[in-house]
Amino acid sequence: MKYLDVYIEESFLNNQTLTYSSGSFHVEVGMRVNIMLRNRSMVGFVANVYDPIDMDFKVSEITGVIDDSPLLNSELFEIASWMKDNTLSPMIRCLQTILPNKLKPKSSATPLKYQKVVYLVDETQSLTQKQEEAVAFIKEQNSCLLKDLRQIYNGYKSLVDKGVIEVVDEVVLYQEQVVEQTYEVLPLTADQKNVFDAIKFGESNTYLLHGVTGSGKTEVYLQAAQTALKMKRQVLILVPEISLTPQMIRRVSSRFGEDVAIYHSALNDQEKYEQYMRVKNNEVRIVVGTRSSVFMPFECLGLIVVDEEHDLSYKQTNVPYYHTRDIAVLRSEYHHCPLILGSASPALESYARALKGNYTLLELHDRINHQFPTVTVIDTQAALRQKQSAWLTTPLLEGIQKRLDHGEQVMLLLNRRGYHTLLKVADTNQVLQCQNCEVALNYHKEDRSIRCHQCGYQTHQLPIVNGKPVQLVGGGVGTQRLQEQIEKLFPQARVTRMDADSTQRKGAHERILTEFIDHKYDILIGTQMIAKGLDIENVTLVGIINADETLAYTDYRSIEMTFDLLLQASGRAGRGKHRGEVMIQTFNPDHYAVICAVNEKYKHFFKQEMSYRKVAQYPPYSYLISLIFQDEDDAATLKAATLFESLFKADDVQIIGPTALRRLQNKHRNRIILKGKDLETMIEKCGEALEVYKKINKTGVVVDVNPMTLE
Ligand code: ADP
Ligand code: ZN
Repeated sequence: MKYLDVYIEESFLNNQTLTYSSGSFHVEVGMRVNIMLRNRSMVGFVANVYDPIDMDFKVSEITGVIDDSPLLNSELFEIASWMKDNTLSPMIRCLQTILPNKLKPKSSATPLKYQKVVYLVDETQSLTQKQEEAVAFIKEQNSCLLKDLRQIYNGYKSLVDKGVIEVVDEVVLYQEQVVEQTYEVLPLTADQKNVFDAIKFGESNTYLLHGVTGSGKTEVYLQAAQTALKMKRQVLILVPEISLTPQMIRRVSSRFGEDVAIYHSALNDQEKYEQYMRVKNNEVRIVVGTRSSVFMPFECLGLIVVDEEHDLSYKQTNVPYYHTRDIAVLRSEYHHCPLILGSASPALESYARALKGNYTLLELHDRINHQFPTVTVIDTQAALRQKQSAWLTTPLLEGIQKRLDHGEQVMLLLNRRGYHTLLKVADTNQVLQCQNCEVALNYHKEDRSIRCHQCGYQTHQLPIVNGKPVQLVGGGVGTQRLQEQIEKLFPQARVTRMDADSTQRKGAHERILTEFIDHKYDILIGTQMIAKGLDIENVTLVGIINADETLAYTDYRSIEMTFDLLLQASGRAGRGKHRGEVMIQTFNPDHYAVICAVNEKYKHFFKQEMSYRKVAQYPPYSYLISLIFQDEDDAATLKAATLFESLFKADDVQIIGPTALRRLQNKHRNRIILKGKDLETMIEKCGEALEVYKKINKTGVVVDVNPMTLE
């Protein structure tokens, strides 16, 4: 019998473990066990196993063991503790984040799917003709599914009774579709070769690969992956979000075939589990995936790539608020392998680190085809003065017509989904707000619904005032309305749309994209989903409808976000034989973010933006920790924030707030921001204050170390 320290999904425990005894079970660190706590059956995660020692309380026995072998090896366990310490999150939440849903130490984890598999165990017995055929059928494939065997021989039970075959329940494994290996290795250009040669395999180092769009970064990743595979090592390629994966998947799969596992949020729990196990069992050597694949159970990584490293989707949006880049660095250190962060517009933090020498800077200055698209900036203000529409100006409409006449394709980017982006009550002009959130409601014409994009609230009913439904007037343009308008103006064009609404169904994303690539449509309208990663030969015009959208935000990072979006979108046009054009409609044609993006002048932008960050002492000149206190009771949030403020004690840390934020999902919110230069001390002091806070106050607090945005 052993004693076990167990983490349990119970928030009052925070980071404390409870002690249980193993009883007659065999238990190892990293396994899940069943325990009883206050008469409730719960799942625990074993953090420590040791010989019994004297305790001043009665140690209860666990009631069962869930796993045959540890789920997490010591590397992943270390990563969980690192996250606990550095994101100030409960350990159990970190463990849950690392494991796929099916394996989470969580009472609500869904069960695995099983199937019946038939194995041959004794071939020496004399059989009937039919039985012989059945045995031959199994033998041909070593084993077979019971349902397949029953197709040819329904009396399989007699074979079980005789001891000829055995039927076993096995976890269903997802069969990857086989991709032919057709994507040839391209001889590297001199610039690519310089970059490639600078990468040292077999040792840990972080490289920042800054390459303009279309400069051949992906080809460098693929050839680096090849090298790692030759060294009998595994490869992890991280991509921002589902919007980008189909293209990257296709490129990686067509070069490396069945060696590739794909991991992203559109897989269901079972599929995720299967991909996870394929990596764990060493059946695949390359993983292409989004954020959470950084926790895959690799045995020996030889290369990690973080493509589009500046992308905000690399930051987790709930507890633990980890950044994928940080985890990738940890894993590169553990596995002694290179980490390549690639981007045409690196995060300012990353570029600053590269300039300081913390990362090795690698650069690709030119496009493979040496062609940069022509970029036209359209002054929306001026267009308005000439009585043109602000969202479809005359030059843009003419541009679209010209491309259609040439049989070429067009992409239009509008970062707002829905039909109307706001609704006003006709009599009072009052903007209709969500009942749970302080945000304007949207109108979706397709299903005639009124929706909140924050909390998902949805209704088909008009609001009732004085006993009767009020008249509403819609305003603002979302992708649905843009599509309607474009279809009206260009009746001969085939128009399709890609946004969160049109891609809800599984595979829809891939389908829309493929159909557009196959030129079944002339115009693709979409949100930022279409801004990245598309590399379509026949697209010769990209129109950006509202380049100002993000400039209007008050966030310290909003200018950087605008720059990234414009640069990425510009990079999409003119990749093929034809020279492409980008048209940007903006109210701020002279803004440096617009000018620098248009001319693909990252370094200029970096300098300019850094000078503003310096004045305001925002990252990378400082570190931030955001604490949001939230409660249904407004007064409680302010009280909580003030209490925390009184508990937090550290020199050289500025406290900004408490600031009231808008109500979201029925919760009032109040925020404090800690700003300082020494992140380690800030985390430590913040952790100490939180520990005291949690003991004396019940108001919930969400902690985000290094927040990406401050709305
Ligand atoms: P990035 O990832 O920097 O945007 P890509 O790797 O997608 O750039 O390369 C842009 C285009 O150039 C792609 O169509 C790619 O197939 C092509 N390409 C990349 N490297 C080479 C090379 N060495 N020789 C010829 N074509 C290349
Ligand atoms: Zn809402």
